[in-house]
Amino acid sequence: MLARNRAMRIAKLPKSLILGAGSAALLVLSCPAAAVANSKCVEGLWPSAKSAGITRATFDRAFQGFTPDPEVVEAANFQPEYVKPVGEYIDRAVSEKRIQIGKQKLIEYQALLGALENRYGVDRTIIVAIWGVESNYGVQPGDKNVIRSLGTLICSGTKSKFARPQLVSALKILQRGDISLEAMNGSWAGAMGHTQFIPTTYTAYAVDHDGDGKRDIWGNIPDALASTASYLKVSNWRAGETWGYEVTLPKGFNPKNVGENTLRSVGEWQKAGIVRVNGEAFPRLSDKASLFAPEGARGPAFLMLNNFRSILRYNVAKSYALAVGHLSDRLKGYGPFVHSWPTDETHLSLDQRTEFQQLLIARGILEGEPDGVIGPATLEAVRTYQRAKGLGVDGYPSLTLLKMLRSEAPPTPVGAVPPAQPAAAGEGQPAAVGASPPATGQPAPVGDGQPAAVGQD
Ligand code: CA
Repeated sequence: MLARNRAMRIAKLPKSLILGAGSAALLVLSCPAAAVANSKCVEGLWPSAKSAGITRATFDRAFQGFTPDPEVVEAANFQPEYVKPVGEYIDRAVSEKRIQIGKQKLIEYQALLGALENRYGVDRTIIVAIWGVESNYGVQPGDKNVIRSLGTLICSGTKSKFARPQLVSALKILQRGDISLEAMNGSWAGAMGHTQFIPTTYTAYAVDHDGDGKRDIWGNIPDALASTASYLKVSNWRAGETWGYEVTLPKGFNPKNVGENTLRSVGEWQKAGIVRVNGEAFPRLSDKASLFAPEGARGPAFLMLNNFRSILRYNVAKSYALAVGHLSDRLKGYGPFVHSWPTDETHLSLDQRTEFQQLLIARGILEGEPDGVIGPATLEAVRTYQRAKGLGVDGYPSLTLLKMLRSEAPPTPVGAVPPAQPAAAGEGQPAAVGASPPATGQPAPVGDGQPAAVGQD
C-alpha cells in the first residue's frame, strides 16, 4: 500500500531522486545476466505449480515475456521514514469525501446490500466501509498484473515466502477462468479487485453472487461485495452487533498498563470505571472486549468487541479495523470521535498539517493543493527546508518547524526554485474521488505492524 502521490509534487527535483530505488532496481533487473537469472527463476516455479494441478499451457501463458517489475521491488522494500500517527491515518481513511460517497453507495446498492445482509448476516455499512477503505469503492484496485508482481517478489527474493503460495493460487484462478491474465490486476503485493483479496483469500472465500460461473471481484460489484460479506461471515461476524465503543477512561487510568490483546468482559471494564462517551449503558456486559488506546490516555480510547476481531481477519492492523468500524458508524449517521487525537511536537492536527503544506507551497518548495496528507512530496519539501535552514535533516513535519515557518513572513523562495503552480488535486488523493488509496497508499499504522493480508506499507 505504497503512497504514490501524483498530484502534489516536489518542486523541480530531478526524476531520479523521486524514483530512487526503482531506477536502480530497473538497471539491475534489465541486464542480460539478469534475464538469464529471471528465466531460471521462472522455470524453478514450475514444479510447485505442476503439483498444484496447473497445466504447462497455463503456466507458459502466465509467464510469457516475464520481466520483473522494478516498482514492485521498490514498493516491497519501502521503509517509511515518516510513520503517521493513528489520528492522521484515520483522518485520511475516513475523510468527509469517503463518508459522502459511501452514503451514495448505500443508496445505489440498496437492494444488493439488503440481500447480502439477509444471506450472510453482515451489516451493509460494514461491507461498504471495507469497500471504501480497501479500494476507495473500486476506484483504486491496483493496476499491476498479479502474476508479474508475485513473480517479481519471488525472483527478487523480496517477500518470496509470502509470494510463493500466492502465485500458486493466482495460477489456479487463471486456469479456472475467473479472470483473464490481462485483467488480473492488483496492488504490488497481489491484493486484487474491489475487495483487495490476495489470491489465497480469494480461492477460499470469493463467491459468485450473480451466478455467471465466475467470481469476478475486479469488475462485478455483486460478486465483490458478496465476497467481502462471505469472508466476514466465516470470520465470525455477529449480526446486529457493533465493532466497539469509544469510551472515556477514568482519571489516572493508564491504558499502557493494559495489554492490547487483553480480553475482559465489558462488565469488568465498567467496574474499572470505563464508560461510553455518550453516557449510554453498554448493551451486553458479558461481551468480551479489549482496550485500544493508540495514543495512550491523551487520545481517543475504545473497547473492541468480537466484530472488531472479525475485521482484523481482513487486515491485522488495528488502526485499519478502527477506520473500517468508524467509517461504518459514520455511514450510519453517527458523528466523529468525541475525544480528539493529541497534537504536540510530533502529532500535528489535520489543520496544522494543511497549514504546514500551505507554508511550504508559499516558499516555493512544494507544489499542489494542500490537503493535510503528509506524503513523499511533503517530506522531501520538509528536508529541502531543513537543509536551507541548516537544521538537522530528518524530513519530519514537527510543531517546531511549523512555528518556524509561521514566523518567517513574508516567505521567500528557498534556492532558485520558482513559485508553485496550483494543482487540481492534493497529495495522495486521486482526482476522481479525492480520498486516500488504501490499496496503494495506506500508511503503516503506528505500532500495528504490516497489514498481513497484503503485506503493504
Ligand atoms: Ca459472477
